[in-house]
Amino acid sequence: MTFRGVDYLLIDSSFSEQELLVRQTTRQFVEDRVVPVIRDNWREGTFPAPLIREMGKLGFFGANLEGYGCAGMSNVEYGLLMQELERGDSGVRSFVSVQGALVMYPILVYGSEEQKQRWLPALQSGEVLGCFGLTEPDFGSNPAGMRTRARKEGEEWVIDGEKTWITNGSVADVALIWARTEEGIRGFLVEKGTAGFTASDIHGKLSMRASVTSSLSFSDCRVPASAMLPCAKGLKGPLGCLTQARFGIGWGVVGAAMDCYETARQYTILRKQFDDKPIASHQLVQQKLADMITGITKAQLLALHCGRLKDQGKLEPVHVSMLKRNNVAMALDCARMSRDLLGANGIMDEYPIMRHLCNLETVKTYEGTDHIHALVLGERVTGIAAYR
Ligand SMILES: Cc1cc2nc3c(=O)[nH]c(=O)nc-3n(C[C@H](O)[C@H](O)[C@H](O)COP(=O)(O)OP(=O)(O)OC[C@H]3O[C@@H](n4cnc5c(N)ncnc54)[C@H](O)[C@@H]3O)c2cc1C
Repeated sequence: MTFRGVDYLLIDSSFSEQELLVRQTTRQFVEDRVVPVIRDNWREGTFPAPLIREMGKLGFFGANLEGYGCAGMSNVEYGLLMQELERGDSGVRSFVSVQGALVMYPILVYGSEEQKQRWLPALQSGEVLGCFGLTEPDFGSNPAGMRTRARKEGEEWVIDGEKTWITNGSVADVALIWARTEEGIRGFLVEKGTAGFTASDIHGKLSMRASVTSSLSFSDCRVPASAMLPCAKGLKGPLGCLTQARFGIGWGVVGAAMDCYETARQYTILRKQFDDKPIASHQLVQQKLADMITGITKAQLLALHCGRLKDQGKLEPVHVSMLKRNNVAMALDCARMSRDLLGANGIMDEYPIMRHLCNLETVKTYEGTDHIHALVLGERVTGIAAYR
């Protein structure tokens, strides 16, 4: 059945025509191009590669950025785009998030004019793919401890170290790598094929199966001085990108939750048990549906308010922490309740629920875990940092 969206509280009336158009275009793309293939991709552990150039043509990459061929969407339009993509699959949304928020955004904000001209139009069209390398084997939640180093030798930078859990690492044409230098943490654009740079895929994932995840290794890897992003100094460089990406996650997971809710709603109306009555006629079942729609509605309002604040230039990283943490937890709750309401069928990949549920476990962990965002909120309201 075609997905019609979920709007219990008439939130659609708060969207402009343009915002609704972006949502509808993306919804149609997901319906026509993602839904028919994603189960097979998830089973095979592959990304639906034919979609990349199509998404580029539709303006999905770097959609809320201005210039260099980018669509220049508002942040609410961008949020709706993320929501619809994640209704299809978190791996597809992750692909678009990495390309736009974690690779194009830093090049636009921290890059030289030469770097912008060279990379942004090609990344926007999907002709070139990028990845973002921050996490290391021993430094996930605490990237400040990173061991990857870059040292200057004449006109070159020499990079040594390891990155892991990198989305699109092996398929990327350019890797944005964060490394420690004598002048603090800096970002480097390392091209695929550079001597001393290798990527290998991580296998055995039971989550984000339709997304490539890789480990990257740098050994005496030499890049020209022009590969460094001139305007990113210190950890606030990568953290600024993560705030962009987390904003997209806060919207995206609402899409996954909507899909789980709508699947369960339709299923429980059709499925009959005990005296040939729909299971939706039982109070315990209705309570779960009520909890789901309430959670989704609150998450929609939070995302919309954050989107409007971002469009006014007032959204702070601490706001995004609340958005990401709350909405991911809500989506996981919805996926679990929905899985339960489908009984045995809930574990089958014929339905999207178990796929969303497994994917959302990654979304809870990456871009700052649930704990870390709780600590961000805790620090904001108490003034006391409790990370250590
Ligand atoms: C599929 C996938 C794709 C990813 N893509 C990328 C990518 O493209 N680029 C990239 O750089 N990274 C990526 N990551 C990595 C991701 O950002 C990290 O996994 C995440 O930051 C958590 O780090 P960790 O896995 O090392 O967990 P850890 O930091 O070891 O945390 C493990 C547990 O300890 C808890 N914990 C840690 N410190 C504290 C504390 N101070 N207080 C309370 N609890 C704490 C955490 O909350 C968590 O529950 C990806 C991960 C996955 C799974």
